[in-house]
Amino acid sequence: MSETRVVCTRCGGVNRLPPARPAEGAKCGKCGARLFADHPDDVDGANLDRQIAKGTIPVLVDVWAPWCGPCRMMTPAFEAASQRFGPRVRAVKLNSETEQAAAARLTIRSIPTMILFLGGREIGRSSGAMTTGQIVEWVSARLPAAAA
Ligand SMILES: [Zn+2]
Repeated sequence: MSETRVVCTRCGGVNRLPPARPAEGAKCGKCGARLFADHPDDVDGANLDRQIAKGTIPVLVDVWAPWCGPCRMMTPAFEAASQRFGPRVRAVKLNSETEQAAAARLTIRSIPTMILFLGGREIGRSSGAMTTGQIVEWVSARLPAAAA
């Protein structure tokens, strides 16, 4: 697979990234938003579905809620991990309080829960707060060598 497709977290547009160009600074062709921001964006359920179904890179979602202390503690670790992955992993956040239907579809039983998707299907799930190093290790261990 030579072509990378990345779904915009803001407008849901599907962007094709040529393999030759660095993806870090890439912008959405539809709305102009940076595709890889410095911190993982919150997405709604519909956008998350598009990320999983239309994107070609692994999708890592952190399911959280504003009232959840461990979730807030994990936020900086998740941000740092996502910066380390850069454009190799699509890191996003799902607020289970405002996106209850999406959280229910993912059968979230406790938060924080991280789920990793690749090729349209779930390849890993972990509940409980993690450090940056633990997140990076957990994700890398689950990805095929080519993707990690
Ligand atoms: Zn966009």
